[in-house]
Amino acid sequence: MSEVIPANRKIKKRTFLGLLLAALLFLLFMAFYLLLVASDRYAAFSRSVVMGLTISTLIFTLLFLFGLLAIVLTIMQKRTFPSMRWFIEKTLLLLYPFVLQIGRFMHIAQEKIQRSFIEVNNQLVRARAMEIKANELLLLLPHCLQNDKCSYKITRNVNNCRRCGKCQLAEILRMSSARGFRVEVVTGGTLARRAIEEYGPRTVIAVACERDLSSGVLDSFPLPVIGVINERPQGPCFNTRVDLTALQESLDFLLGKK
Ligand code: SF4
Repeated sequence: MSEVIPANRKIKKRTFLGLLLAALLFLLFMAFYLLLVASDRYAAFSRSVVMGLTISTLIFTLLFLFGLLAIVLTIMQKRTFPSMRWFIEKTLLLLYPFVLQIGRFMHIAQEKIQRSFIEVNNQLVRARAMEIKANELLLLLPHCLQNDKCSYKITRNVNNCRRCGKCQLAEILRMSSARGFRVEVVTGGTLARRAIEEYGPRTVIAVACERDLSSGVLDSFPLPVIGVINERPQGPCFNTRVDLTALQESLDFLLGKK
């Protein structure tokens, strides 16, 4: 049974990091199991194959272990280590599906894992302490943030919004005009990718649900993306909202306070 997580409940980073460690231990267990199979005297014909598998599993386990240590070190030190970034990205990209499976097996809600992953990702992005100009930042918003009764088409051109105040687009566009960053409203991952390709930002702030954010963050590697989880007071994908304080805080972090 899936657990419904209130939008404002803070999920700890340790949920995702603990599952990442569990995935690593599982890989290690597999490597030792394969080693036992390879040393079976009745399996001489397949020994070289199994040994090859064992060595490959051990190499990947070491790579992921280094990646996990790099993630923890980056978060604890609040500073980035460029030489470790490759290991971090590969560890997250390759182990993420595995982590979700382990979580499912342990009856941990997928949303909880995804939210924890986004928290880990945000800390990793923040550790980079980049100096971003407003025109290098793209804010991606989901279409469901628009009031469902609004007839203006804002997905092609966000300036079609009349800023009537019936949804939060008005306030967000006011922030955008004041600070000069670009805003795009997208209906899904394909349009989000297209907006990133067209605009070529150095950093993205993306507002979406846990599932879309986590897949978007992984798809966009190595582009740094700060994720802000949306609020769904009327259910998924309908008149959603965003915590404007959290959004403002992310903008202030990247662009400085204004
Ligand atoms: S602020 Fe008004 S015009 Fe703009 S998208 Fe929302 S409802 Fe439509």
